[in-house]
Amino acid sequence: MNRFKTVLIDKSALDYPLTELLLDELPDIAHHVISTDEAVTRLRGIHPDASCLPKAKKTLLITRNTGSFLKSMATDPGITDRSRSESFRFEILQGCSMDCRYCFCQQYLSCHHSVVFSNPEDSLLELASSHPLRLVTGDISDSLVLGRLSIVIHDYLSALISDDSIIELRSKCILPDNWHLLKNNVFELDWSITVPDQWRLNEPGTASPLQRIESAATAAKAGFKVGIRFDPLQPERIDKKAYYLILKHLYEAMKPMKPRAFTVGSYKMSCELLEIIRHRFPHNPLPGVEWSRCSDGKIRPFKLTRVYSYRTIVNLIEEIFPTVPVYLSMEPSYVLNFFKS
Ligand code: SF4
Repeated sequence: MNRFKTVLIDKSALDYPLTELLLDELPDIAHHVISTDEAVTRLRGIHPDASCLPKAKKTLLITRNTGSFLKSMATDPGITDRSRSESFRFEILQGCSMDCRYCFCQQYLSCHHSVVFSNPEDSLLELASSHPLRLVTGDISDSLVLGRLSIVIHDYLSALISDDSIIELRSKCILPDNWHLLKNNVFELDWSITVPDQWRLNEPGTASPLQRIESAATAAKAGFKVGIRFDPLQPERIDKKAYYLILKHLYEAMKPMKPRAFTVGSYKMSCELLEIIRHRFPHNPLPGVEWSRCSDGKIRPFKLTRVYSYRTIVNLIEEIFPTVPVYLSMEPSYVLNFFKS
């Protein structure tokens, strides 16, 4: 899924082995070597070509991460999310060309190129001192959005981590054709899935829900632990029939395998992000949804809407996958308690 018109390489990243491996995969795309100063101005979003959406997404920038590679994903202490509190974002990828309408990277990142930091070996001291057990690469990017390049990057990364660490990939893409390079004792693969209407409306650059299910089934049958994320759910009361059909299709495609877990969550917005969506996608209905501000400062659908949607989807999951655990993503205890009651 290489969607680039331009590949830029920071001069200081040229000698890293991963840069060379990536260029081997891109024989037909012209690349340009740029100065480290230019790479920095692009990363900071000062260079106009890096901040301009959506045009900036057509560029792949290969550079060095000169800061920390690890970022704890633990959230506000009042917000519960077991999988985030145990995970560290590993900053090897940044930015995503798929341009989902609600993507928080539109606000969070200054640079909208797809960025690969090709010096993960420079994180070895940091990895050794932190000894993180679960690394996630699909938080400010999609782990598989670079297609074959994504697999090359993760295969390279897997040689650097300790034997007891897991790398979690999170994606809305199909498996690239070189996916067999990934080892099923190192990688866990999570697919985020939504219903067809929401996919067309808010995730038009991603693989279709059915394609994602086929990839999830392929991975599960190859021995990978596969997680399924219904996050975000539809912002208003969810379409129960559409989710039922998705779950039935997932069941049929995966059998006799099952997901290791389901993660269910709601939209998490900010006023700034809603303004960006309104400006960039004037016909998108998300800014018109009724939102409520939560204690962590994020904006979510109203509590009763979320609880109704969670109950509906959990009941469906328990009907079709009765033994598979379900977790809620980033919710305060008053919602979890309500949900349990
Ligand atoms: S796939 Fe994820 S990172 Fe990529 S645009 Fe969509 S929400 Fe953002």
